[in-house]
Amino acid sequence: MVVGPEYSTLEFVRSPVQARLRAANLAEIDDKLRAGERLTLEDGVRLFESPDLLAVGHLANREREKRHGARTYFNYNLRLEPTNVCEATCLFCSFSRLQEGMPEAYTMSLEQAWDKLRQRANQPLTEVHVVNGLNPHLPFSYYTTLLRGFKEIRPSIHLKCFTAVEIAYFSQLYGMTDEQVLRELIDAGLDSMPGGGAEIFAERVRRKICHDKADADRYLSIHRIAHRLGLRTNVTMLYGHIETMEERVDHMLRARALQDETGGFQAFIPLAFHPDNNQMRKLPAPTGTDTLRVHAVSRLMCDNIPHIKAFWIATGLELAQTALWFGVDDLDGTVQEEKIYHMAGSPTPEGMTTAGLTRLVRAAGREPFERDTLYNIVNVPPVEAAQAPTAHAV
Ligand code: SF4
Repeated sequence: MVVGPEYSTLEFVRSPVQARLRAANLAEIDDKLRAGERLTLEDGVRLFESPDLLAVGHLANREREKRHGARTYFNYNLRLEPTNVCEATCLFCSFSRLQEGMPEAYTMSLEQAWDKLRQRANQPLTEVHVVNGLNPHLPFSYYTTLLRGFKEIRPSIHLKCFTAVEIAYFSQLYGMTDEQVLRELIDAGLDSMPGGGAEIFAERVRRKICHDKADADRYLSIHRIAHRLGLRTNVTMLYGHIETMEERVDHMLRARALQDETGGFQAFIPLAFHPDNNQMRKLPAPTGTDTLRVHAVSRLMCDNIPHIKAFWIATGLELAQTALWFGVDDLDGTVQEEKIYHMAGSPTPEGMTTAGLTRLVRAAGREPFERDTLYNIVNVPPVEAAQAPTAHAV
């Protein structure tokens, strides 16, 4: 416990929580939250600088429980990355290969990609999540046919595919507007978009770590168009590399501003930087306490985005579980096949069972709810599922 200059034992006895928040320099923020006032950039930085992580977590947990009580969501999903060939050169990326033929470069044939879904005919999947490198050799029809094929194999499957960075690349490569690209993909079966590619919105950081892909304005503009066309999307933030605390909060505020305009974001997803096998490997990975704090501050700053997600592949299972008391109400899903983080050194399993996720949630004292992509509840797991094995055989 942090004992600040205004802290006294008497105060602790009378009102330990208020005294602790005061000692942590968070009393004004507490007042604002209680009054339903919005937090500012300065408030966000103060939350990052406060010495008392548990006090920050307390505030975030209160906001989490106000929205969701003990509910914790996950879905039964399959993650696919059909090609890792990519023209961009993001310094933090361990997944991409610049050209076909380089070691570990790959592009799945459409049949190979469809087989991933066919092979799971007996699994109650509700979502396929697709992201790719920016591959200059594929025709646009590769992507539209991919989506149509998935829908033919399983008409009820929800297709959450292509980051805003990919949409911007398709527009440039195939000579269409962003809206035309999105309309054609929707026509082929696109149901929603993931939030990848946001990294950190601040220009200073993007110039250094991802200078040759869509900038922040383009990313946000594509999500704005997607929301107007009726798609729900997510927004991510890559943290733990060269960004400042101000730049983290600025990122959250830009997402919040677009959400005020459109209401189309479902979840804010902090993504931990992983340093293995990429050009930023000299940097350390973010610490566990930083991860908990980032999720907590996200809950407090992004007051209008319904869900804060801990992507367990990136945080590790144990931290994702702990984050359920630091503002997080969503654990993504079973995932099953993931390359982007595993090529960057993530030691997590490549897949989880719904029973395994259920057990994690229950062991944290929270209530598991299996959802679909749009947060409709599809299953409330029975208590005995908590005893089943955790990792998926993949
Ligand atoms: S992060 Fe995406 S755009 Fe950047 S190099 Fe990797 S695959 Fe390409």
